[in-house]
Amino acid sequence: MSTVTEIFSSRVFDDAVMQQRLPKETYKALRQAINIGKRLDMDVANVVANAMKDWAIELGATHYTHWFQPMTGITAEKHDSFISPTGDGRIIMEFSGKELIKGEPDASSFPSGGLRATFEARGYTAWDPTSYAFIKDGVLCIPTAFCSYGGEALDKKTPLLRSMEAVNKQALRILKLFGISDAQAVKTEVGPEQEYFLVPVELYDRRRDLVYTGRTLFGAKPPKCQDLDDHYFGVIKPRVAAFMKELNEELWKLGILAKTEHNEAAPAQHELAPIFSTTNIATDHNQLTMELMQKIARRHGMVCLLHEKPFEGVTGSGKHNNWSLSTDTGVNLVKPGETPAENAQFLLFLVAVIKAVDEYQDLLRISAASAGNDHRLGAHEAPPAVVSMFLGDELNAILDSIKNDTPYNAREKELLKVGVHVLPRFPKDTTDRNRTSPFAFTGNKFEFRMVGSAASISDANTMINTAVAEELRQFADELETAENFEEALHDLIRRVIRAHDRIIFNGNGYDDAWIAEAEKRGLMNLPTTPDALPHLLDEKNIKLFTTHKVFSETELHARCEIMQENYCKIVNIEALTMLEMARREILPAAAGYVSTLVDSVCKKHEVGIDAGYEKDLAAELSALCASVNRGVKALEDVLDNVPEGDKTAQSMYYKNAVLPAMAEVRAAADKLEVLCPADRWPIPTYGDLLFGVK
Ligand code: ADP
Ligand code: MG
Repeated sequence: MSTVTEIFSSRVFDDAVMQQRLPKETYKALRQAINIGKRLDMDVANVVANAMKDWAIELGATHYTHWFQPMTGITAEKHDSFISPTGDGRIIMEFSGKELIKGEPDASSFPSGGLRATFEARGYTAWDPTSYAFIKDGVLCIPTAFCSYGGEALDKKTPLLRSMEAVNKQALRILKLFGISDAQAVKTEVGPEQEYFLVPVELYDRRRDLVYTGRTLFGAKPPKCQDLDDHYFGVIKPRVAAFMKELNEELWKLGILAKTEHNEAAPAQHELAPIFSTTNIATDHNQLTMELMQKIARRHGMVCLLHEKPFEGVTGSGKHNNWSLSTDTGVNLVKPGETPAENAQFLLFLVAVIKAVDEYQDLLRISAASAGNDHRLGAHEAPPAVVSMFLGDELNAILDSIKNDTPYNAREKELLKVGVHVLPRFPKDTTDRNRTSPFAFTGNKFEFRMVGSAASISDANTMINTAVAEELRQFADELETAENFEEALHDLIRRVIRAHDRIIFNGNGYDDAWIAEAEKRGLMNLPTTPDALPHLLDEKNIKLFTTHKVFSETELHARCEIMQENYCKIVNIEALTMLEMARREILPAAAGYVSTLVDSVCKKHEVGIDAGYEKDLAAELSALCASVNRGVKALEDVLDNVPEGDKTAQSMYYKNAVLPAMAEVRAAADKLEVLCPADRWPIPTYGDLLFGVK
């Protein structure tokens, strides 16, 4: 049995392997390309490719793939083998620099939102050398970005990399103003906490809704759910523990820093958190984590549900996106410092984030928008759909004193002057974290909690990075021309706090009173995905993305359309699944039971026994069956009238007409479930699913 240190990163073509296997010059050229984004020339690429191939073959790989993240789905890969014929009926194993750097998958069925005309349906993939190649299931996977021939992004990684570049550029300007010259790069770093459910595979297979849509479309609440809170951080069941052990080992082999695992709030719900890393790598790793969770669960007779709300009335799953900014010299720029200068710098980055969150609330909301997450946000278990920020009492008091020109505490007479005074110490608060806040400062990072469990974190980070880059750009423009830097800095910070403190809310985000208060403050409330998505194309947002070259206007239109289309497709599949289950499983089962009851009533009458119970129940069930059937017909009608064309109107229709019609069917069917005998109900119940893993 190998130790963790031995297996860690054993399937990754990482720095240690590169150093060991590449000639010195090649290694240096590759390192430069990785560190400062320099282009590799073909000679270097050929040497790297060959070394990579030899290494991969030694580890049993026979194929390679350009591994990328399309705009929908987890990841995409098309395998090519290394074999190349030699002309004498034999083969050699080959892999060239050209094949490493650029791939041309025939990717015409990936959604492009009209970016690719069919006559040039091929896109190309380009190696992202900052994310190491790795071996998965005998395939050498090369992390890549995916673009059209015109250079438009067709994936989630390209804009993410562009947004990281934008923050890097602007943050370096700010650091220069503070006289910091040793940092050559500023990176955003992320640690995503991943929540998920595990259910027994044999029960999962009997639920068409889980199989087709990832969530239950029917299901009455069981007598016990999460009322006792006895699952949270509870003892992990042996089968789950075995799953987690294997998952950790597989993740470690891929160099993924899986760190913590525990039971979550709901029964059958769990969480895995890695140690944070550079954002594009953290994103790749999170995609791999989701993939491996699903694959490994199967080996243990379970299915991993990544849907945001697999069970109605039971806490759903999210993905807390812990975000920070740091220099290549290892300084975390969103951590309060020790000296006045460090603190001034911290406050400047802090207010940049505050301003970014306030001005681009809509973009953050959009980055967490999906049909699945709509069932979770604002459901009194996850942050509301209104974006706000939590800073904690200590930091709040400091910002208040700057804002109002008042002493930070009564004993101090002098006013707090940014850049001159040491900030009063505020302990990293670990006790009273506000779990209800969508965007919380937690001592040395910001935790964005709206992201759904099934989503890629690339969207959220693309938005955060770009918005913060824009604020830093404005700050740098202003401060670079200031005559008195300290004065200008103080004024700027105070001005930003005064203009944007409406976004700060330290109270209970689950409280309905907050939604009313938020409206008074003029904050945006975009309750659902169809409400949120059109804002992607608001003028201010187009300006933001084009200024920082993260998205072109064409790319934004394409993304908006793809997301709207995806929403419509998902709700449509759910509605069709519901119709099928109601007609082919639920109604026949319930009607069958009614006829058994009726038979019994007749028989009892014959022998003169009172059949009141059976009669009443049969009548009640019959009425409910009729009600389900009416709901089914109504849903069918609604689906027949989906408007063609305009995607905004279509997504609104799915939300306003289809979802409510589905709710009607469900309400009646769930009542039937409660009245039918367990052995007659055709699908596993919530109780079976949530408590089925022993
Ligand atoms: P919790 O939020 O559950 O209390 P932690 O604070 O330990 O847990 O961390 C949660 C996640 O935040 C982990 O993935 C951790 O690696 C990540 N994290 C910690 N520090 C930073 C940081 N400076 N930047 C980004 N992520 C961080
Ligand atoms: Mg957390």
